[in-house]
Amino acid sequence: MKVVRTCAEMIEISKFYIKQNLRLGFAPTMGCLHDGHLSLLEHLNRRCDARVASIFVNPKQFCPGEDFERYPRDEERDLKLLKKNCDYVFIPYEKEMYPKGFSTSVEVSGLSDTLCGKKRMGHFKGVTTVVARLFGIVRPTFAAFGQKDYQQFVIIKKMTQDLSFGIQLIMCPTVREKDGLAMSSRNMYLSSEERARALSLRKALLTAKKEIEIGQTKAENLKKTMLKVMNNLGAKAEYAEIVDTENLQTVDPIHGEVLLAVAAYVGKTRLIDNEILRCKEL
Ligand code: AMP
Repeated sequence: MKVVRTCAEMIEISKFYIKQNLRLGFAPTMGCLHDGHLSLLEHLNRRCDARVASIFVNPKQFCPGEDFERYPRDEERDLKLLKKNCDYVFIPYEKEMYPKGFSTSVEVSGLSDTLCGKKRMGHFKGVTTVVARLFGIVRPTFAAFGQKDYQQFVIIKKMTQDLSFGIQLIMCPTVREKDGLAMSSRNMYLSSEERARALSLRKALLTAKKEIEIGQTKAENLKKTMLKVMNNLGAKAEYAEIVDTENLQTVDPIHGEVLLAVAAYVGKTRLIDNEILRCKEL
């Protein structure tokens, strides 16, 4: 595995693969890696000739007052984990990604304004800007993202289509701890007591899923159930929504393929989770 620190070197590597008609797979991350991140590389392995992971804690996607400064960083550990799982790891310096005078941003309107976008102003603009920049440098054939950040995936898919990047996106299932908690770099912030309360997000989704299975179709009622479960089990719910998987708009009564999405604070840590369900058509 080769560690690449500059955009110029990454671009040269990418050119080498493109010239030979070889397929590069790409998994962008912010580091503090876990099995969820490694699963993206596993999914790419089946389709690509070589794999690139990037590690960049992107300041543009953190809102004022969020955890940019204290976001967990452990490059040595990340490199050890990646060693057998990818061919290149791109770890650009901030001045490489955003050199003096960098003045472009990429924004997907509509899809970025719902769910997490309502609460984290400018977050998705930061995400699409960095992913567009990374796509331009790495120029992969495939790029893998996790279902855990479903809204992010849908937004990046739209950007990729709208800007004709010609990159095939792969959405990989959420990897969970044994007890069902979605793996996340931010789980590191949780005390053992908070770790137990963090399960309330999963519990809320599974409770709603069960209600749907026995015939509940009213999104409003299901949302109330999810909020109640999270709040009763020690989280501070931020939202619980049921939306169409493509346009992320509320679906009520629920029908077709829907996304159940929740966000909640456990102590100071903001967590998200979701579940995709295929319901009966109206
Ligand atoms: P992050 O480092 O949190 O920005 O995440 C980098 C990529 O890993 C994104 O595509 C995430 O959706 C994905 N990811 C994070 N956690 C998980 C998980 N538990 N399962 C699958 N993918 C994940």
